[in-house]
Amino acid sequence: MTDALLDVLIVGGGPAGLTAALVTGRARLRTLVVDAGDPRSAVVDHTHGLFTRDGASPQHLREEGRRQLERYPTVRVVTDRVRTLRREDGVFIGLTEDGLPLHARRVILATGFRDDLTRAGLPDIAAVYGRSVFPCPFCDGFELSDRRVAVFAPRPSPHLGHYLSMISVLSTPDFTLFTHGRPVDPALREALARRGLGCVEEPITALASTDGRLTGVRTADGRLHPRDAGFILNDFATQATDLAARLGVPDVPGPFGAQVPEVDEQGRTPVEGLYVAGDARASFAGLVRASAQGALCGAVIVGEVAEERWRE
Ligand SMILES: Cc1cc2nc3c(=O)[nH]c(=O)nc-3n(C[C@H](O)[C@H](O)[C@H](O)COP(=O)(O)OP(=O)(O)OC[C@H]3O[C@@H](n4cnc5c(N)ncnc54)[C@H](O)[C@@H]3O)c2cc1C
Repeated sequence: MTDALLDVLIVGGGPAGLTAALVTGRARLRTLVVDAGDPRSAVVDHTHGLFTRDGASPQHLREEGRRQLERYPTVRVVTDRVRTLRREDGVFIGLTEDGLPLHARRVILATGFRDDLTRAGLPDIAAVYGRSVFPCPFCDGFELSDRRVAVFAPRPSPHLGHYLSMISVLSTPDFTLFTHGRPVDPALREALARRGLGCVEEPITALASTDGRLTGVRTADGRLHPRDAGFILNDFATQATDLAARLGVPDVPGPFGAQVPEVDEQGRTPVEGLYVAGDARASFAGLVRASAQGALCGAVIVGEVAEERWRE
């Protein structure tokens, strides 16, 4: 199928990409999904907040998403990574890591974001991230509400006050902030003090954990602060690919200081025929919004193809 000109190439097979394929597949558009299979959510066993599937494993959702696409004969899903993509005479031409040639009239980038834990600058974070320390209070706040929660803010962020207010509503109003050697600004310090919340500014030397379960936070003064779960302000994620930039799409500021490709409300980039959906567009969309954005891009493309064919 890939030697033929595809109606749609979807790069990325997470909730955004697989939902887009469902829409284009149901319209019998020739659709290829190329998915490298290394989503950022691979670190978690359960995801929350998805209608009818609250608590489902993200891996299971992806497998089921792929399985449900099997009944659509014009859709193919391959596990591979798109290496190059360029646009020539109205056609996107590319190549995957395994050497699969790609020719498509339209492309949806649903490539997600990548959590670069080394940028978080916190020792041992990789051992607990996604196991007992999470980025998103909507996603995991409810489950941590009865734990001794640490909030890690190792890098300066203008979003910290808002993040803490969300944790206090979505999870627990009783947490300790750890800033890893950074002084807290006076207004925030006062807000914490008013609520009787602890704030530890000492540099963190280690996160103690057992099988991914945080047990304590060791600071440079030698103290061990017993904690059994945490949140970390995720300003360390970056786009998983630079395919949009290489196709000429400018970056614009997105949420939490991330840079995201410029798109309109429907996910169209300034490059004709190129769309972006999911985390790749919003830096942290969540399952529902990623899926909705994939569906929207798919529907917009179906509408465009329908009009083209109607005019022929
Ligand atoms: C720790 C953690 C916990 C979370 N918990 C929740 C939760 O409880 N509830 C919730 O709603 N959301 C949660 N999220 C967020 C949710 O996982 C994402 O918002 C969602 O998966 C985004 O979907 P997506 O399809 O845009 O991207 P992804 O699911 O990240 O999928 C992108 C895919 O694109 C592939 N890819 C990247 N580059 C290429 C390339 N060049 N070629 C081919 N394929 C490529 C990747 O391998 C990946 O499979 C969590 C995220 C994290 C990190």
